[in-house]
Amino acid sequence: MKQPLNEQSSYDMAAKQNASNIASTLPGGRRKRSVGYYSKFWKNGTTLTISFMDDVRKDMQRGAERIIREWEPHVGLRFEFVEPGQGEIRIAMRGKDSYSTIGTDALLRQPDEPTLVVGIDHPNMVFRQTILHEFGHALGLHHAHLHPQANIPWNREIVYEHYTNDIGWSRENIDHNLFDLETNADIFLGDYDKNSVMHYCIPNFLTYGDWFVGINPEISAQDKINISNIYPAL
Ligand SMILES: [Zn+2]
Repeated sequence: MKQPLNEQSSYDMAAKQNASNIASTLPGGRRKRSVGYYSKFWKNGTTLTISFMDDVRKDMQRGAERIIREWEPHVGLRFEFVEPGQGEIRIAMRGKDSYSTIGTDALLRQPDEPTLVVGIDHPNMVFRQTILHEFGHALGLHHAHLHPQANIPWNREIVYEHYTNDIGWSRENIDHNLFDLETNADIFLGDYDKNSVMHYCIPNFLTYGDWFVGINPEISAQDKINISNIYPAL
């Protein structure tokens, strides 16, 4: 998940695209928990344009499109795949890290930059899960393991060691993606969901006791409820 370069422009863009991002209630009528919070959801009912960068192989494009469209029946948005580089969401497949901007933050990226990157050299990459997960971010979803009620019994020392040495993340990146819980807003619209496609795979050796989460390869039942509360069917 990619942080906005500038929090103020992130807020301005979210407000401009969809007034309910800064309203005190969500489209479903639920109250957001805190006043200062804003979401970054696209305006429901609109068509989201998606493209691949020039160098993404055609068969990879077809595979990714099929997977991305699995979100479509659960949202009141339409997905339109357009010519290379022309989409609001621009997908690259390169390097070893996978990440995406959150919702309307995609519009803050330079037009020649990707907004969603799928790392294809990563030894642990699972193509389908990665695409579903990163596209969830593109729709404005945050990490399920950062739910305020997640309560994961992390063995932090081992986590720092593993993510630093084996994955090459900075300490700041580790804190941001694994430990900094989302405490200030009701952005998950539901209970903590261990089966969410927005949850990281957490091997047992990273936690105390018998606690782990496998690779969640599907949009979970709770994910479907959450995303359709955000983008109700038209
Ligand atoms: Zn993520």
